Amino acid sequence: MKITQGARIAGLASALVLLAGCANGTPSATTSAASSGGAAAPTATLKLTVAAYPLEFLAQRIAGDTATVTNLTAPGTEPHDLELAAKQLADLGASDALIYISGFQAAVDDALQAVPPKLAIDASTGISLLNPAAAEEGAAAKPGAHDPHIWLSPANMVTMAQTIDTALSQAHPELAATLNANTDKLVADLKSLSDSYTSGLATCQRKDFVTSHAAFAYLARDYGLTQIPIAGIDATEEPTAARIAEVQKLAKQSGVTTIFFETLVSPAVAKSIAGDLGLKSAVLDPIEGITSSSAGTNYLEVMQSNLKALREANGCS
Ligand SMILES: [Zn+2]
Repeated sequence: MKITQGARIAGLASALVLLAGCANGTPSATTSAASSGGAAAPTATLKLTVAAYPLEFLAQRIAGDTATVTNLTAPGTEPHDLELAAKQLADLGASDALIYISGFQAAVDDALQAVPPKLAIDASTGISLLNPAAAEEGAAAKPGAHDPHIWLSPANMVTMAQTIDTALSQAHPELAATLNANTDKLVADLKSLSDSYTSGLATCQRKDFVTSHAAFAYLARDYGLTQIPIAGIDATEEPTAARIAEVQKLAKQSGVTTIFFETLVSPAVAKSIAGDLGLKSAVLDPIEGITSSSAGTNYLEVMQSNLKALREANGCS
């Protein structure tokens, strides 16, 4: 579903009226372990807001017990076309930090201007961004647009973790030692994940893989694979008949065995292409959200499931 810029702004404006109306309302409930006499457990002091699941994973691992983390994208919903409710905007204004990826979710980019949080951390800072044309094999790219799916590269996730750790540590020096230690453990897990991809994809019969939408360009770049996406950068955009025909041609040429689909968008197109070509279909998860049907309970586990799926599809030994 597409919403117009005008509709988004209108929604934002009415949310701001609501926000102004409740500025003197009841303060949000804050629990304090110190006041209830709990000395052993660290107090959750930070209120972090994240824009989508991969950032929730990073924030929880980095902040640990020092924060509560709120995800603006509800579990099981697709993050690209996120719309924010008035309550979410109000919470954002009261948040200690927003962690987001600029250019990924228009509603979040707009909200940042309207309701600036105390600290805005763009997790894509310092990452070498790909443009959508590179991801979509010649599809027309909007000027200045970039591919936001940076989290599907474990190497990018290391940079993102360090960006978040540095920003939070600078803003809250009393928590820096804890944040730094948590980040070190996270980085070790991400490097180990990357190592398993490097070795797992080193010797494969095929390099091409067909995906539901163009989410895997960073992963493909890192591990020497070629993505053939059915839909573009935005999972909610329907592929054209011409693109579907093109994907069928490319899939036949490259001898792929499997057409991948996702957990959060309809598998109908991917399954129909697979059916037409007599190929298998399987899940390759862009990890835009975790649900009970995800092949794992967190980023690391679903990335391992993705590796297994890629190895099977591409005949990796
Ligand atoms: Zn996506």
